[in-house]
Amino acid sequence: MKVEFFRHNIGQEEINKVAEVLSSIFLTTGDVVQEFEEKFSKYIKCKHSIGVTSCTAAMYLSLLAHNIGPGDEVITTPMSFIATANSILHTGAKPVFVDVESETGNINEELIEPAITDKTKAILPVHLYGQMCDIKKIKNIAAKYGLLVVEDAAHCIEGEREGIKPAQLSDTACFSFYATKNITSGEGGAISTNNEKIANKLRQLRLHGMTKGAAERYTKKYQHYDMELLGWKFNMDNIQAGLLLNQLYLIEKQLKRREQIWKMYEEAFSEVTGVDYPKILPNSRSARHLFTIWLDPKKRNEIIFKLQDQRIGVAVNFRPIHLMKYYRKNFGYKKGVFPLAEKIGASTITLPLYPKLTDEEVEYVIRVVKRAIS
Ligand SMILES: *Cc1c(COP(=O)(O)O)cnc(C)c1O
Repeated sequence: MKVEFFRHNIGQEEINKVAEVLSSIFLTTGDVVQEFEEKFSKYIKCKHSIGVTSCTAAMYLSLLAHNIGPGDEVITTPMSFIATANSILHTGAKPVFVDVESETGNINEELIEPAITDKTKAILPVHLYGQMCDIKKIKNIAAKYGLLVVEDAAHCIEGEREGIKPAQLSDTACFSFYATKNITSGEGGAISTNNEKIANKLRQLRLHGMTKGAAERYTKKYQHYDMELLGWKFNMDNIQAGLLLNQLYLIEKQLKRREQIWKMYEEAFSEVTGVDYPKILPNSRSARHLFTIWLDPKKRNEIIFKLQDQRIGVAVNFRPIHLMKYYRKNFGYKKGVFPLAEKIGASTITLPLYPKLTDEEVEYVIRVVKRAIS
């Protein structure tokens, strides 16, 4: 048996929609993007969504839209994909890491306040594996110090905590439609916000700071465009939006299947000594993006190879950002500064989790993992 790490859910519906876009005249940002943005906002229960080319671009533009730049500090977690901290670096600001909680791997909210300086401008929490951070607590700290909150919700389209969804308490929430995410356009992302002024600014920033996009110039009477800001070229196109529409329609159904698989993994591993995994809190609805296990760090790498030998695709989510060569070199980080993030980084393996996995495949993964650790 071979179990891929991930298989996407693009089927005939999505292909038909893309074919329709491709046979139309308009391939770039237009009516299909607008339709996706409206439906995405409705799902997230927020006022505005802006389609972009990645979550990295979404986070970068969110910071830029709030004038964060050189001399500023942004507090974030080292237990994430490098995109999170890189988006801060690109603005010229400095990422300031704080350690995580041991139960969930999410940023430890208690450590945020002590890390605040007079240079701190924003907090950038990551909803790791699909479970939201304590966004209420983070919002309270931000309000007390007048800080911005930008959520890295790359894993967390479907998640909520105490009934709160991404973008509800923050300034912006950033989503990813990268190839292995819960819904995907190969590459893609979105920013959601309830702030109309920021939404309008983000619409300009994603496309060169122009006042009118191509759709407005060509579908209506010709209008000259002006450039009011220096923006980027991060606009989502109609082809990407076409791929996403039906996946968004099916998002709850697909979550149910991932919940079943998650339960199979939990039931199998809860009794096994030497295997632990992040806990889903009772007040939380996880988007169930990644199922990771925590093993003895001394055996982790060897177990990765054993799983690969048995044709099971795995990943490591994540190696802590502060220990990447670039971050060590430029910020002087050393091993031991964020022990809990480092512990996860050294002990974690991500197992396959996607709706197309069959029960037989899940059972095979469980069998091979149990054998590999014994
Ligand atoms: C995938 C991912 C990103 C980056 O998303 P892109 O759309 O590839 O830019 C950011 N943060 C986390 C936690 C991710 O897993």
